[in-house]
Amino acid sequence: MKILVIEDEEGLREALIQSLTDEGYLADGAEDGETGFSMITSGLYDLVILDIMLPVIDGFEVLRRTRNRGIAIPIILLTARSALRDKIGGMDLGADDYLTKPFAMQELLARIRMVSRRGAGTTADNRIRAGELRLDPGTYELSREGEQRTVRLGAKEYQLMEYLMRNAGQILSREQITERVWGYDSEAEYNNADVYVSFLRKKLKFIRSSAVIRAVRGVGYSLEVEEHD
Ligand code: CA
Repeated sequence: MKILVIEDEEGLREALIQSLTDEGYLADGAEDGETGFSMITSGLYDLVILDIMLPVIDGFEVLRRTRNRGIAIPIILLTARSALRDKIGGMDLGADDYLTKPFAMQELLARIRMVSRRGAGTTADNRIRAGELRLDPGTYELSREGEQRTVRLGAKEYQLMEYLMRNAGQILSREQITERVWGYDSEAEYNNADVYVSFLRKKLKFIRSSAVIRAVRGVGYSLEVEEHD
């Protein structure tokens, strides 16, 4: 899961990113509302931690623009003020949860787990779901629903598989995959996405899944799964 932290206090932003990374999440930061909003629209993130008091445009405006665009990404608001008005205003604008500063990191992590569970594509036991596929964020194990056979994914394989599963049926470009899994500043080889897709295809075959990672020529990849619901 990739988390965007929009927070102008550099120390807090960096500490949050570090803690999230330690927990096995991918995380990036933005220091103002305008930058944060444009990063949300990139489609690279699964969850946003959004400070209210921000330069350029504030957190409420980021929230409003995000929901107006029809982007349903889970958003947890942060504020230094415990004013009830902020909380109600934020929830009315479509925030999923709310934390007042200062907060314990454990509290934020619990909220992240809760909010991401509420989203589509997650099973009751917190595994990521796409068609028959199940992916466990704790053990990195990929399996088919109701089947014993599992395969353990490496860290980058996990991040790529999770991205494909959360966007099943959609085409993800090589650039999106590279930025998402290896990061904006990485020196990832351009063909990393292709190499890791080939690893994942072998693992899908190993668990005898009918899911297919389809190559879209000149663009990227799409995970095709059958929905049996
Ligand atoms: Ca602030």
